[in-house]
Amino acid sequence: MSSKMLGKLETVFSYTAHFILQSWPEKRPGILFLTDSGGRVINFMEMQVGQSGDLGGLDLMLHSVPSGNVRELIEKTASTREITVETWEGDPKLYGAIPLREYDGRIRAVIGIVTSQAEFDLDLFAYMRGLEPMIRMGYDAYIQHATSQIVMDLNLHDSTRDLLECLISQISEIIQKGYCSAVKLSENGQCIPHECMTTQAAEYGTSQISQILLRFGQDALTPSVLDGNRIIVVPISHNYTPLYALILHLPQEEADVFYDERDVAFLQEVCEKASSALWRAISSDDLRREAGKKDLLYQLMSKIQASIDVNDVLHEIVTSIPSLYPQLSVELFLTVEPNATTPVKQLSFQETEPTTSTRAYLEGRLIVEKREEDEQPVTVIAAPLLGKQGIYGVLQVTSDQRVSLSQHETDYIAILADTAGTAFENAQLYQQSRNLIRELRLINEMARQLNRSLDLKEILDFVTTMMGATFDAEFCAILSKVPGEERFDVLSSSQPEYTGKTVLANEKPFQEILQNKQALLLAQPGAGPLPFSLLPCGSLMGVPLIVEGEISGVLLVSDSRYHFFSFDDYKLLEIFGQHASLAMTNAVLHNEMERMVITDNLTGLYTRRHLNERVRTSLEKDPYGSLILIDIDYFKTVNDTFGHQVGDEVLIQVSNLIRHSIRDSDIAARWGGEELAVYLPRVDKSTAHGVAERIRHCVEQETSPRVTISCGLAKWNKDLGLDLSVESLFHQADIALYEAKNSGRNQVVLA
Ligand code: GH3
Ligand code: MG
Ligand code: MG
Repeated sequence: MSSKMLGKLETVFSYTAHFILQSWPEKRPGILFLTDSGGRVINFMEMQVGQSGDLGGLDLMLHSVPSGNVRELIEKTASTREITVETWEGDPKLYGAIPLREYDGRIRAVIGIVTSQAEFDLDLFAYMRGLEPMIRMGYDAYIQHATSQIVMDLNLHDSTRDLLECLISQISEIIQKGYCSAVKLSENGQCIPHECMTTQAAEYGTSQISQILLRFGQDALTPSVLDGNRIIVVPISHNYTPLYALILHLPQEEADVFYDERDVAFLQEVCEKASSALWRAISSDDLRREAGKKDLLYQLMSKIQASIDVNDVLHEIVTSIPSLYPQLSVELFLTVEPNATTPVKQLSFQETEPTTSTRAYLEGRLIVEKREEDEQPVTVIAAPLLGKQGIYGVLQVTSDQRVSLSQHETDYIAILADTAGTAFENAQLYQQSRNLIRELRLINEMARQLNRSLDLKEILDFVTTMMGATFDAEFCAILSKVPGEERFDVLSSSQPEYTGKTVLANEKPFQEILQNKQALLLAQPGAGPLPFSLLPCGSLMGVPLIVEGEISGVLLVSDSRYHFFSFDDYKLLEIFGQHASLAMTNAVLHNEMERMVITDNLTGLYTRRHLNERVRTSLEKDPYGSLILIDIDYFKTVNDTFGHQVGDEVLIQVSNLIRHSIRDSDIAARWGGEELAVYLPRVDKSTAHGVAERIRHCVEQETSPRVTISCGLAKWNKDLGLDLSVESLFHQADIALYEAKNSGRNQVVLA
């Protein structure tokens, strides 16, 4: 296409040559030629040579500079910038030349004629003067020709980008100087610097053209020639609507060239003729984008309206908008915190100057704001998420450069935000009711389970399991405050290796809980994990267990993911805490009472009732067992000699000695006043005898004042088949004890 097109000078020359051939006097020899300003021959042709005259001695060759008189002629013409007619002594030829003067006065080419002095009888100077309008016409014809060629080519493109790329590259090829750029114009005719393309190489070019664009600032672009013919600006409009501007500019390297009036005329012509094609391309781009947007919007709306999950709705909105508006960044601000895996920001009401998003929220309407940020113009569109029952947040779209979004497009964003608001509300209501049911069910279940058990360990296990299942967190634990010390111990944990570990009470989460006696939710820790020594985590909830106004422990749930817990989770954990506190208090009280019932006050040994109970159980489930009855010898004498107080102390001494002589599974009890008993489940007679002897020996050695004891030992065995009762076992032991007394005391007698 353009390569088929003649260059500007050739076109002008061929136009002129056409006229000369028509008007050249018949049968006169002549040579017509075109050189550039340096004298290099670009084209030449003979006119009727050989008919009669002789034009020998000319050495015209394409692409080289001729010598001799032709050279002198061209040099003279270029320096005087006037039509020159010359003859030389001894040369029968007549020489004439006409400079092709550019707008800037520079001579870019010369058209020359050589003929025979003898045969040319016209005034060559006048003849050449008559050529001047032809040359101008040649230029005009060239511009017309080039322009229509370009405009025809433009119709091949239906996207704005392709069309502009084609346009600037063709213009650049024809002008053959500097670079051509196209920049988008706003409705007011201001340039939009980031929507610019140029024929200059990327890094250098974009920076140079953006320097030029910066100079226009907020002014509307008008047709202009700047910097002494080194920059040409021509806006393209359609029906008075500015579309793009074409800019020609010369780089520093091309210091000695300038644009001429014909370049300006050409660019103006092209801009005028190209405007329809450009308008059509822009409109079809818009149509395509609109259609795409409608599709996406429709998909988005049906998706979020069908969704009953708040997170899905948010996710869909945040990911869809960038595909609708790729140059924009999207942020979502919410008043409530969702169970956020979607990046969501909290609306801020703290600042004295409300942010755009806060204003959109407070005023309940779309706000479009243009401002400077780091010297970059920024457009912020904040659309409230409107539901029927309120405003849930703000959808904020930010462009990092100035984009003129039409009313149409801001309406679009508002509709999107509206739909999002309704969908969000529906999903949230649904989720809330679901959460409520879940909470009620959980609390019910928890209360039922907890009331059923008075066993502390069982309660701890249950609460831990429940927390793990409910919050789906990586870690949960119950910690107890160590009385009188500034630390918490892990009583129970979802990860057994943590059980028994200790955390200091002055660590951040605990310190706050202790200070405020309130539940704590650390969900927005900023950067990095929370400073918590027990385990690294990104989100943490802690609820104090309060018994009689004091913090006795903490329920802890944590996860390595940020924003893992929602406010609903936090409230639920608080309720967990209340129930757990109550259940644990009950269990502790119950354990205490039970201990009191089964323990003898003076000696700390079990009561007789408890012993009976344990012996009865053992008789049912064990294969055999032994019972030792113990009575202190001459205890009355101890009392009489040292007083009742000392008697009590001796009784305690003996009890402690017994306790230390038996295993945990054995049961030592106070049987009566100064009568004690030890039951040894699954222990045979001879072993029990050994135990009894050991106790007897210890008492004899270690009591002060020194006392001795007598022991009666009875055993039972399922294999003997005797239907043994608790009473008869005691009776047997009692008989043995009686025997021991009678046989001189301080001894063990077997039944
Ligand atoms: P022996 O058993 O060797 O036959 O002589 P004994 O003096 O120990 O006689 P017995 O076992 O019958 O007497 C029991 C005495 O132990 C009666 C009572 O004064 C005394 N006693 C019982 N319970 C307590 C007690 O809790 N504290 C004190 N200090 N004395 C008690
Ligand atoms: Mg006694
Ligand atoms: Mg006694």
